Amino acid sequence: MAAEEPAQVSRIGVMGGTFDPIHLGHLIAAESVRDGFHLHRVLFVPAGTPPHKTERRVAPAEHRLAMVRLAVAGNPGFEVSTIETDRPGASYTVDTVRSLRREMPPQTKLYFITGADAVLEILTWKDPFEIFRHCDLVAVTRPGYDAAALDRMVGTLAGSGGAVHRLVIPEVSISSSEVRERVREGRSIRYLVPDAVGEYIWRTGLYQD
Ligand code: ATP
Ligand code: MG
Repeated sequence: MAAEEPAQVSRIGVMGGTFDPIHLGHLIAAESVRDGFHLHRVLFVPAGTPPHKTERRVAPAEHRLAMVRLAVAGNPGFEVSTIETDRPGASYTVDTVRSLRREMPPQTKLYFITGADAVLEILTWKDPFEIFRHCDLVAVTRPGYDAAALDRMVGTLAGSGGAVHRLVIPEVSISSSEVRERVREGRSIRYLVPDAVGEYIWRTGLYQD
């Protein structure tokens, strides 16, 4: 793979999410793709206003961004991008990958990273086929989501011209929803989120009402 490419090609992962809050499942997914696809770095891109999460209140972007910063500190292969939190209006992946594509050297390879649940919904996203013009898609396994359905979706997307990869990763059934629920109930979130993120949540009182 990397051996056939000119030396200057950089391989960048893009890990989008609401990150409300970021947890170990996100970090394991990003690190697995970084390692498996020999990426130079992974950009974590917290959504400003997530278009598909209108049914509940999402924590302010400053808090979600601050927690992502704490979580990626210490991994030189991870970076945070404010491209979506700086942009007004709903955060659409297609707008993000289009602008990343424009600002990166043309030989950069972009890999958009998603969990199985998100990939199964991708055809409901804005302009999904334009997304594939700008980047490859890496679908990582996630507990609780049908592996056969994921395979079928990967096949469908690849059949319509997308460069789609499936990566089996160490599966942890952690979700931000569960972390929020535990905080609301005053239960432990230790080992589900990085220590610094847990401290941030308890200090700021996020998710307690
Ligand atoms: P919520 O419960 O609020 O929906 P979440 O845990 O699903 O939160 P998101 O911010 O919605 O987190 O997800 C961002 C991306 O990370 C998505 O592509 C999602 O599929 C992926 N992801 C989240 N948790 C995991 C996990 N435990 N394993 C693999 N992928 C995950
Ligand atoms: Mg989710």
